[in-house]
Amino acid sequence: MGQIAKDIIKGRCCQLCCVYFKEEHGYPVVCKDCYSDMDKEEKKNYQLAKHKEL
Ligand SMILES: [Zn+2]
Repeated sequence: MGQIAKDIIKGRCCQLCCVYFKEEHGYPVVCKDCYSDMDKEEKKNYQLAKHKEL
């Protein structure tokens, strides 16, 4: 497993576009931009990030 994969699992970066956050979430998340591009059905499968992007 690569570093990016670990960072995604830890919620250190967005699981779709890999932008990094100021703090780790502890679970996989997507950033605001990716989240706002999703429709209602897709949003059920993803957690929106709580921390700001770097
Ligand atoms: Zn993203």
